[in-house]
Amino acid sequence: MNDQDSQRRVVIIGGGFAGLFAARMLRRAPVRVTLIDRRPHHLFQPLLYQCSTGILSEGKIAAPLRDLLRKQKNADFVLAEVTGLDADGRRVLATRPLGGQLEFGYDYLIVAAGVQQSYFGHDEYAQWAPGMKTIEHALVIRRRVFGAFEMADTAVDPDERSRWLTFALVGAGPTGVELAGQIREVATKTLRDEYRHIKPDDARVLLFDGGDAPLAPFGPQLSAKAARTLDKLGVEQHMHSIVTGIDGTGLSVRAQDGTVTRHQAGTVLWTAGVAAPPVATAIAAATGAKQDRAGRIMVGDDCTIPDHPEIFVTGDMMSLNKLPGVCEVAMQTGIYAGQRIKHEVAGKVPTKPFRYHDLGSAAYLSRGNAVVSVRRVHLSGFLAWVVWLFIHIGFLTGIRNRLGALVSWWPAFVWDIRRERTYTTERVGLIGSAYDELPPSATGTALPGSTTGAELPTASAEPSSRPG
Ligand SMILES: Cc1cc2nc3c(=O)[nH]c(=O)nc-3n(C[C@H](O)[C@H](O)[C@H](O)COP(=O)(O)OP(=O)(O)OC[C@H]3O[C@@H](n4cnc5c(N)ncnc54)[C@H](O)[C@@H]3O)c2cc1C
Repeated sequence: MNDQDSQRRVVIIGGGFAGLFAARMLRRAPVRVTLIDRRPHHLFQPLLYQCSTGILSEGKIAAPLRDLLRKQKNADFVLAEVTGLDADGRRVLATRPLGGQLEFGYDYLIVAAGVQQSYFGHDEYAQWAPGMKTIEHALVIRRRVFGAFEMADTAVDPDERSRWLTFALVGAGPTGVELAGQIREVATKTLRDEYRHIKPDDARVLLFDGGDAPLAPFGPQLSAKAARTLDKLGVEQHMHSIVTGIDGTGLSVRAQDGTVTRHQAGTVLWTAGVAAPPVATAIAAATGAKQDRAGRIMVGDDCTIPDHPEIFVTGDMMSLNKLPGVCEVAMQTGIYAGQRIKHEVAGKVPTKPFRYHDLGSAAYLSRGNAVVSVRRVHLSGFLAWVVWLFIHIGFLTGIRNRLGALVSWWPAFVWDIRRERTYTTERVGLIGSAYDELPPSATGTALPGSTTGAELPTASAEPSSRPG
């Protein structure tokens, strides 16, 4: 038996903040780490909205996990989707991208698989209103936002034109607020001089939320400040509004007094609600763990599942003391799990429970304007924006991404130039996954029932031609 065979095996599910920080914490420990992710990259989700509105390329907010782990000799990366767990046999079950089962035995398991978008029981909305969790989402949103202006430009019917120039966002948390502000800035600044048949600044951005105010978790003062800034940007805020239906031409919304209003909109984006992915339910079933209302796995104060001291749940998928789903919680729980395993394999008895150190939160409102909340300190405006800038530079993964973001931010923040506006007008491939084998007809004629045309929402049934 060589040294490696005697080493304890640590399997990590998910290479987001929690999983990556856990792996790094174990870099000098005498263990074998296997990090499994269904995507090949670590993604910096807080800047997805800048990718979808043309400021940053996808490569600047994501980094290959294999590259991030290349110097960590005790770590291996596997591209696969974890589907189940045999808790008694201590085996993780996964599926390779082209099909085929994999199994990974473990001595310790760190679950760090994050959360996914939730449509509150209305998954049918997803086809019309993409969420914002992955690179795929950001690129679809980029296509829909910039594509909507093109559709408006060639629409003859004024109603159709105005529909394409209407953008509706559901959910006024940080993502909805940031995206709403960015779309108005795209319309009023970036695209200002580029069209001859429409005025991009006619674009309406409607922001819907069931609560009292945007950015409610930031407290009343910063929330009011955010509402004023959105007003100035021209974002139409509809609070106390519950979405009751979404389709290819818009959405229906119920106000507090019960009246339902139909809004025509060429682009609807979903920025509300998250839920744990199916793998959380599989893990809970295998271990007897409880799940909270959003499906997150409930853990003890050492981040492990009761009766399973070898299984840690970290980051967004963990439910502990109502901690928020933010990067800091993910990083700190990942580091904690890694440290605890390191101590255990060194023969020490770890006793310290997990303690969260809240470093505050920040949201970008518009160029030169942000809100930052750090315990009792509340900042807004330019100073908050500078703080926002430093935080995001600090947290971006990899020096190349940091420098790259700075190079892209300079023209975007100084001259409103967004260089990353490239999008495809055809659905890439006829199939859901890039790993699926192409059917023979894919290179020529379309498969029955498949969509080969523009993936913009099919809101325009009317014939369109360029106005004279
Ligand atoms: C648009 C947006 C903006 C945000 N803005 C902020 C912000 O400003 N500040 C802040 O602090 N937080 C913000 N957050 C939240 C923050 O990004 C998350 O809290 C953080 O990324 C959670 O890290 P995680 O490691 O738990 O999960 P994730 O980063 O989601 O990583 C989970 C990983 O698990 C993988 N995975 C999932 N299921 C499986 C499976 N079955 N098999 C294999 N792999 C799997 C995924 O591919 C992913 O790589 C934002 C989130 C979003 C979506």
